[in-house]
Amino acid sequence: MFIGHFGLGLGLKRVAPAVSLGTLFLAVQFVDLLWPTLLLLGIEHVEISPGITNVVPLHFVDYPISHSLLTMLGWGVLFSAVCWVVSKSRTGAIVCGLAVVSHWLLDLLMHRPDLPLYPGESPLFGLGLWNSLPATLAIETTMFAAGVWIYTRTTRSLDRTGSIGFWSLIAFLAVVYLSSILGPPPPSVDAVAWDGSGAMAAHRLGLLGRQASHRELASAHLSQPPHGLPVACGPGGAQLRIKVGVRQLGPAHAIRQAEINLLPFHSEFIGRRRIWIE
Ligand SMILES: [Zn+2]
Repeated sequence: MFIGHFGLGLGLKRVAPAVSLGTLFLAVQFVDLLWPTLLLLGIEHVEISPGITNVVPLHFVDYPISHSLLTMLGWGVLFSAVCWVVSKSRTGAIVCGLAVVSHWLLDLLMHRPDLPLYPGESPLFGLGLWNSLPATLAIETTMFAAGVWIYTRTTRSLDRTGSIGFWSLIAFLAVVYLSSILGPPPPSVDAVAWDGSGAMAAHRLGLLGRQASHRELASAHLSQPPHGLPVACGPGGAQLRIKVGVRQLGPAHAIRQAEINLLPFHSEFIGRRRIWIE
């Protein structure tokens, strides 16, 4: 699976609004970003084998470190721990950890039986939806569209840069996806590995950063405060008195952070129309 992972990452913004989209993408794609490096190091192996499935011409010979269920659980725990240390958000850490492990379940739908439970002599699993192009397109595009729909209702752009950046990112992912499944097989294993790592990741992260800094949580938008919450108007415009939109921010610690971080909000907003919510 490719674009379906991103769909899940976009949708998880609703569950963990405090986690950036970049971190959510990193979580759902973590093992696929690890995999090219392991290929280049010769630790895991893939062969180009046109026709092995109707959609993806790759024979995954072995990838126990990146794609076994057991190691993915380990990567999930590690990722979750780092999220916890960095963000101190329990919900964020749990969601990020589960997002890493979700990769195995989503790949299970698409792959031939080549996904191991653990490194070594493990039975291999895969439901093989890659044998059907219509089924592959239906599942992946539905997941992606659902993710985009949820994300655009959880956040909103502050200006045109936020809007253009976001839709450029979506278009970029869609084009890369369609060209990868409808285009010719990759010329070499090295091309697969380099494609999957450096340039693509950099481009994606560039677009991500651009759109993320120009978007805010929909629940914290100034012009539409939830009914009954205190908002004062002065000569400088609307002034937020904390707690606007906190209903959707989740657990108590997130609310406290919102209160603290929204205090310098007024001057930030007037100058740059930008807010921060942890
Ligand atoms: Zn994968």
